[in-house]
Amino acid sequence: MVKVHKVSGAAYDGNVYLVMDEHPILVDAGMMAEPTLKNIRKYIDPTKIEMIVLTHCHHDHSGAAPKLMEATGARLLLSAKETGCVGDDLTTVAYLFGASAPEFKVDGTLSEGMVLDLGEWKLEVLETPGHSAGCICLYERNEKVLFSGDTVFPDGNIGRTDMYGGDTKELINSIQRLTGLDVKTMYPGHMEITSNDVNRQIQMSLRFAKSVL
Ligand SMILES: [Zn+2]
Repeated sequence: MVKVHKVSGAAYDGNVYLVMDEHPILVDAGMMAEPTLKNIRKYIDPTKIEMIVLTHCHHDHSGAAPKLMEATGARLLLSAKETGCVGDDLTTVAYLFGASAPEFKVDGTLSEGMVLDLGEWKLEVLETPGHSAGCICLYERNEKVLFSGDTVFPDGNIGRTDMYGGDTKELINSIQRLTGLDVKTMYPGHMEITSNDVNRQIQMSLRFAKSVL
C-alpha cells in the first residue's frame, strides 16, 4: 500500500510530501531543506527518492529544490510553462520571502495529460493555472487522491491570484475542473491533509472563488 508522509519540517514552509510507492517521489520541495531531510530520513534513505515533482515554481515550494536534489540525486520535474521562472526572484516570488531564488536544473517538464507511473499509483498531471501560470495538480484516479498545490486548500480556501502570473478567471476555471473529480483525500500545498468530504470542500472553494474574484 502506498503511504504518503508530510515531510516538510518548518511550520511556515510549503508542504512537502513523500510518496512511498515502488518509485518514491517528493511532491514539492519547500524552502527549508534541512528539517525536511530530517523528516524524510525517518521513513526512507533520501537517495532512494527518484523524482521531485513541483506543483509550481513559487519559492515556498521550490526554494529547497537544489539542496534536496543534491541530497537525493532525484530528477526534478516542473511545468513546461514555468521552467523560465527558475532563478528569478519575481516569478518565483522569492522576494516575498526576503530570499533570492536559487538556480537549479529542470530534468523534465510536466504538461496536461502526462501520467507519472510510480508503480501502484499513476499520477495524472492536470494543468490548473490561476494561482500561477503553470500550476499543476496531481490526481490518482483509483485511490481518488489529489495533490492540489496552491490551487485549492481545505475548508473552501483558494490560492492567491495577486502575484506574478496569477489570473482570477483561470483560477475559477481550474477549480471548476477540480469539482468534476471524485476526491477522497486532498494533499494541499499549505494547511493540513484532509479526507473529510473533500468533494464538498472543493465545491466550497469554487463558490468562494466565484464570490470574491
Ligand atoms: Zn504558490
